[in-house]
Amino acid sequence: MMPPTEPRTLFEKIWTEHTVLSLEGGESLIYVDRCLIHEGSRPGFHALDQAGKQLRRPAQVLACADHYIPSHDRQRGLDAIPEAETRKIVEDLEANAKRHGCRLFGLMDERQGILHVVAPELGIIQPGMVIVGGDSHTSTHGAFGALAFGIGASEVMLAMATQALWQPAQKTMRITCDGGLAGGVHAKDLILAVIGKIGTGGAIGYVIEYSGPAIRALSMEGRMTVCNMSSEAGARAGLVPADETTFAYLENRSDGPADDSWDDAFAYWRTLRSDDGAAFDAEVSIDAAAVKPMSTWGTSPEHCAALDGDVPDPADAADAAGREAQAKALEYMDLKPGQAISDIQLDHVFIGSCTNGRIEDLRAAAAVLDGRRARLPGIVVPGSSAVKRQAETEGLDRVFAAAGLEWREAACSLCTAVNGTDVLAPGSRSAATSNRNFPGRQGVGVRTHLMSPASAAASAVSGRITAEDAL
Ligand code: SF4
Repeated sequence: MMPPTEPRTLFEKIWTEHTVLSLEGGESLIYVDRCLIHEGSRPGFHALDQAGKQLRRPAQVLACADHYIPSHDRQRGLDAIPEAETRKIVEDLEANAKRHGCRLFGLMDERQGILHVVAPELGIIQPGMVIVGGDSHTSTHGAFGALAFGIGASEVMLAMATQALWQPAQKTMRITCDGGLAGGVHAKDLILAVIGKIGTGGAIGYVIEYSGPAIRALSMEGRMTVCNMSSEAGARAGLVPADETTFAYLENRSDGPADDSWDDAFAYWRTLRSDDGAAFDAEVSIDAAAVKPMSTWGTSPEHCAALDGDVPDPADAADAAGREAQAKALEYMDLKPGQAISDIQLDHVFIGSCTNGRIEDLRAAAAVLDGRRARLPGIVVPGSSAVKRQAETEGLDRVFAAAGLEWREAACSLCTAVNGTDVLAPGSRSAATSNRNFPGRQGVGVRTHLMSPASAAASAVSGRITAEDAL
């Protein structure tokens, strides 16, 4: 770690600020500001109970019911969950959270939603914090200039018990997105282009800092989309330095700084940027102006192409491993090299998830669907109950219903297809605004194409992969 007199990156500033203890080998004990958990925290609570431990700082642990809950019949509560074991998983989260006194956003809470949507919208995530979570998409919160990363089940237990974690040293990568995004090109297209360039292993061992005019021009929702998928590039975390866009988003959030500490908070947050001349371990640049609407064609987020492009030929891959992976992906996806992406016929559309289930995402999808009819069946799942209420206030739910799509309750739903009801027919082909497309993610044999909400909406109308400006 650089001494503080040298120019430092944003990551180094946050890391230093949170270091309790450092070992010579590079490991540091890092103080944790917030720990985010969901139903998958059962083993962590079990281990705590076995050890007779309590939460060190329960008010800094937030529990959300999101993965295993249904996206329909919310008024029926837990009875809407058909499988007893799934019901038990949700019941256990709520019982564990209550018993240990952490903040719970349970199934029937009016603030309920996907943890990576709920925490930011309440103002719980603030610049300069260290956020950990038992979910790899905890990286979402880097959008606020926080260091946010997913941890394993045993680390969740340690974070809850001690409010600190031993972490290895991290390398830094700056990804500079030059130019501005063209009309009809969204944050999802940008991050798919980034992952397409560096690959799903391209940022392993790094904390990414996103910079450049295309990043600065993004809304907080767009920045969250970008940081959310940093983990898909293998990164430990993704960061966007806080700026006026961040500050405006945080103002008046219920869990922001206390009224009399805003000035101090702003003053500190403004220091949270990489110093001029700070050295990064790796530098990547992207011409954001050249990015087009994107979709995945294969079984990894790096298997992506512009919507006006073609399915690639594995023979053109850079190495043997790439050729084998692409050939296997094409076999699973039942696609042929050279096939136009825009000729790929779809069976279903899913608009939602912690990547693209925020209000701006639903507005983008509704703008495309307004006055149109979807040829495909599909569901629109808001990322949180607050997003749902806001969308209904704006009449977006009526746009989706008029187009023939189902309007659901906040949940992870078809992003992961583990709630026992939201699962696609075996072998079907899906347009999805989520972040993972590995085999079986949305059901047995399901072929998932990741894309932006606008492209998913346009694809719902045409029945094949389609950019909004191609309708
Ligand atoms: S929406 Fe998907 S990626 Fe996000 S937390 Fe839920 S399951 Fe994980």
